[in-house]
Amino acid sequence: MEKLRIGIDMGGTHTAVALVKETEITDSVEFPTEISAGVKAYVAKLAENFRELLKRNGLSVSDLEGVGMGVPGSVNLETGMVEYANNLGFNDVPFKDMVSEALGTAVTLDNDANLAAYGEYVLAGSKAKSFFFVTLGTGIGAGIILNGEIYRGINFAEGEIGHMTIKYDGITCNCGRKGCFEAYASANALVKMACDAMKKHPESKLWKYKSIDAKAVFGAVDEEDPVMLSVVSEYTTLLSEGLLNLINLFQPEELVIGGGISARADLFLPETIEKVRQKVYSRTSLKNTEIRPALYKNDAGLIGAALTGAKDNRRK
Ligand SMILES: [Zn+2]
Repeated sequence: MEKLRIGIDMGGTHTAVALVKETEITDSVEFPTEISAGVKAYVAKLAENFRELLKRNGLSVSDLEGVGMGVPGSVNLETGMVEYANNLGFNDVPFKDMVSEALGTAVTLDNDANLAAYGEYVLAGSKAKSFFFVTLGTGIGAGIILNGEIYRGINFAEGEIGHMTIKYDGITCNCGRKGCFEAYASANALVKMACDAMKKHPESKLWKYKSIDAKAVFGAVDEEDPVMLSVVSEYTTLLSEGLLNLINLFQPEELVIGGGISARADLFLPETIEKVRQKVYSRTSLKNTEIRPALYKNDAGLIGAALTGAKDNRRK
């Protein structure tokens, strides 16, 4: 009997629902993550997409080994509450019960970065005893895998490196602090920096793009636009500062950079790694953290969700 599972990844802009056979995605659907009409309406939309995916594959809920879902926030695994998701405006939402009821099957919830970390760790066949996965997206999240298992803080709010301050009097973050790492080094921060620079430089090639997103910024870099080259270079300094804090504290064996923009890691990661190498506390050590881009990009989150989603809701 084939092991079929469903993995759901609730992103800041869109939600993906994937049918996963063993460790491979065989089919998937996507819809925009819209919370403005209320959590209930979002969950109804999710259920609609979930049923559509099952229907077109000739499946019913009873054919599934498990359903897992990643959420961009802190998920209490004991109560199933999403206790805090600063980018969604979620506070104490009984999300697990709501989603399980709407989908007609038990759903295992977890923080999206934890699941992406777990998915990447399994898919890449990593043997690292300490494996850190950093996602650069709307914000910055991290999943930590120690000795093959997701590391949990006492309240399930671990790995929030996006809210580690890199400028104590910097930009006010929606978490309440100032100068948070994600305000400077998330994909959104990169786009904001690019927009600011573009306004000052009418000659920038970024003006040619209809919509300004990370893809456009990297497109302008591909065209060797000096304005965007300098923006990306500054971005690598900011990114390296946060990664340095992380490495100096944990000295992990492997540090993987994921999230949408990791698809263009070739344009920013080598310079970031060089800046880390120059400043890391352990620069004279024989061994240092291996930093690399994610191999499985957006699939890691979906597969991590599917693999940890168990019918009986007990985690392995
Ligand atoms: Zn913050």
